Amino acid sequence: MPTFKPQSLYAVSHLIATRMGSAETEAAIVADHLVRANLAGHDSHGIGMIPAYVRLLHDGLLVPNQTPDVVLDTGALLVIDAKRGVGQSMATDAVRRAIARARQIGACVLALRNASHVGRIGTYGEQAANAGCVFTAFVNVADHHDIAAPFACAEPRLGTNPFCTAIPGEDGPSIMLDMATTSIAAGKARVAFNKGVPVPEGSLIDSSGEPINDPTGFIRDHTGALLTFGRHKGSGLAVLCEVMATAVAGGQAAGQPTRGGILNSMLATVIDLSKLGDPAAIHARVGATKEHVRSSRVAPGFDEVLLPGEPERRSREARLRDGIPVDETTWRDICAAAASIGINDADIEQAARSNER
Ligand code: NAD
Repeated sequence: MPTFKPQSLYAVSHLIATRMGSAETEAAIVADHLVRANLAGHDSHGIGMIPAYVRLLHDGLLVPNQTPDVVLDTGALLVIDAKRGVGQSMATDAVRRAIARARQIGACVLALRNASHVGRIGTYGEQAANAGCVFTAFVNVADHHDIAAPFACAEPRLGTNPFCTAIPGEDGPSIMLDMATTSIAAGKARVAFNKGVPVPEGSLIDSSGEPINDPTGFIRDHTGALLTFGRHKGSGLAVLCEVMATAVAGGQAAGQPTRGGILNSMLATVIDLSKLGDPAAIHARVGATKEHVRSSRVAPGFDEVLLPGEPERRSREARLRDGIPVDETTWRDICAAAASIGINDADIEQAARSNER
């Protein structure tokens, strides 16, 4: 599989985001987000999302350079309606405001409504953790057909509704759990389909509710469903993400009329750790918990004990060293999407060869 330097994928993403209509700051945020997702090992939320974003633009379901509405801004409460704005820039800006509020008064509850796809939620966890804040987000996905089946459902009723908590450390998050509430993210089924490989056991059902491994019908024909993780417990968290992001935060819910977009809404809390105590002492206590967990004997069938966020850190180190692999189907789809907005293959090749940032 061809591999690319992060700078090359940044240049390609930036070129396409700019041609989609985003001004410099927004294009830079999108390109940076996509490449960071690839570096973290989440190809499902990296440059492979570009064809979906171009399709949303063509369908009038994604608005470059959107000015969000501040619906409520009082004390610890911040409610922002992103009105289908480019998700990465809407969410980055909303979390930036929430961090500023948390620094003033200790904490902020952020309700972000109806951003177009915000991408990898962990990026916002990292943003908050880098600013010394604890971040927790309940997120839903709406405006397209349901794709996730909660516990005991034979058909989909939700999106892949991600949940994230990030705890600051000395250098970025010390621990960060960032996950879809389905056993795999939808983009991972797309990546498996593009590579022609099966999805893991227990992650997918067909239209009769029977378990399957082949993602073809799910991706190509929109049949079947991803299963929520962890039986009734993961399913419960998926339902809570839905309710927190919609009934509580005010975003569009599953089950409402859809237009074929991808809308993310979230209810997030941002807490300034330094207001709770000495950050160094808190970091040490987090470190002690991590060491206590790691001190366990390793269970049969495993090589080591990892903590949330470690696989992403390792992937980042490896991909910064070895490059980011991009399968040919994904690359072809990106080039076709770029062509539909007037960028030819030679422009893409030229951007991919440039190492500018
Ligand atoms: P995943 O299953 O790869 O990882 C989930 C979490 O488990 C991570 O925090 C990871 O660090 C941790 N983890 C993984 N392996 C581990 C191990 N062996 N030991 C300990 N911890 C381990 O992630 P996912 O559920 O496939 O989600 C992928 C990405 O998709 C996330 O970044 C998520 O935010 C994103 N997502 C976005 C949307 C959206 O609509 N914007 C929807 C769903 C998911």
